[in-house]
Amino acid sequence: MAENLNLFTSTQDVIQDALNKLGYDEGMFELLKEPLRMLEVRIPIKMDDGKVKVYTGYRAQHNDAVGPTKGGVRFHPEVSEDEMKALSMWMTLKCGIVDLPYGGAKGGIICDPRQMSMNEIEKLSRGYVRAISQFVGPTKDIPAPDVFTNSQIMAWMMDEYSRMDEFNSPGFITGKPIVLGGSQGRERATAQGVTICVEEAAKKRGIEMKGARIVIQGFGNAGSFLAKFMSDAGAKVIGISDAYGALHDPEGLDIDYLLDRRDSFGTVTTLFENTISNQELLELDCDILVPAAIENQITAENAHKIKASIVVEAANGPTTSEATKILTDRGILLVPDVLASAGGVTVSYFEWVQNNQGYYWTEEEVNEKLYKKMITAFDNVYTVATTRNINMRLAAYMVGVRKTAEAARFRGWV
Ligand code: NAD
Repeated sequence: MAENLNLFTSTQDVIQDALNKLGYDEGMFELLKEPLRMLEVRIPIKMDDGKVKVYTGYRAQHNDAVGPTKGGVRFHPEVSEDEMKALSMWMTLKCGIVDLPYGGAKGGIICDPRQMSMNEIEKLSRGYVRAISQFVGPTKDIPAPDVFTNSQIMAWMMDEYSRMDEFNSPGFITGKPIVLGGSQGRERATAQGVTICVEEAAKKRGIEMKGARIVIQGFGNAGSFLAKFMSDAGAKVIGISDAYGALHDPEGLDIDYLLDRRDSFGTVTTLFENTISNQELLELDCDILVPAAIENQITAENAHKIKASIVVEAANGPTTSEATKILTDRGILLVPDVLASAGGVTVSYFEWVQNNQGYYWTEEEVNEKLYKKMITAFDNVYTVATTRNINMRLAAYMVGVRKTAEAARFRGWV
């Protein structure tokens, strides 16, 4: 039988397993197996050449039993309705795992910002906010950056919403520039959270960070900051990649040099001749492998060939269900995406809290609070996994879904 690469249905399967293990009946799964709301919009943009192009965008709100929904907006040619649904469900799980007062959401536009001018991207960002404005808001649903969106795009979106609302509304969106109410530490937060998970997983496996051999797939926001944190901690980053290829040096790559040379889309390998493929990168001999690029990278095809003893998922959905089983059977410790990449939404939450109170924290305060959240989350998930003898993905889903399930039960929805 062909492997299930559909993120939405494979997410539903694990949610069902988690709810069964927690003792909920079928009614709870019926509630949580799909987003409560799914909006599709069409956004007309007058392009620089004077022609009109109409883009399709989405906003999925998985569940708001706990509180307002929260989740990023991605600009990517492969955005689809199913992807939005799966990503909104993962946001519910992430918020539950790090114990935030939110449910999950996700948005996206089918477009390729790499082929668009800044002027066109600004019009599209503003058009998207106008199209979804009835559906979102600081106490309803709070967007954030995701793949191929950044703090500049968040600033345009916040400005558009504030103009419509006739109030300055920094709490409408997170991931903003600092001068517009962004939080210290937000840009690096996902990588900080992944770093904490890498360090905790290494302790569990008796691996010293100093000298540990790390391979990172993806050199964008998550992957590049992570590479920096790892090399600062004394680890040897022996492989990195982007969409065009990968670099490998068993003695450790010069991360500061690569950071200096990468472009704003996380591309750097095109500057080098001796590259290897992304597939070869994943199979390199190393201690810790961190997929930090895109989904479905570790599959039934290559899971047998992974040589790392720890895999920490910084990307969303890089490992299929079958590959998860193969890695677990081989004794590889897999720290799942919904836990490992929860640092971003955690500091987004801190940003929203600071916006609401109008009082701003130092980077040290943010990092300290993030550290506490991530360590507690890692310990909770690891304890459930070891006491129940299940893999960390199922354990993370159990920890993550419980808060929303309980909130829905208290509200009398199920
Ligand atoms: P990004 O756009 O900044 O960087 C993506 C990187 O992946 C780039 O280096 C790009 O070249 C590379 N890439 C793209 N297609 C690829 C392919 N086919 N093969 C190999 N590499 C490829 O994105 P990001 O923000 O770093 O996000 C990376 C992953 O982490 C995504 O799955 C995202 O959902 C997840 N994530 C990010 C955040 C965050 O705050 N940035 C938070 C949670 C999860």
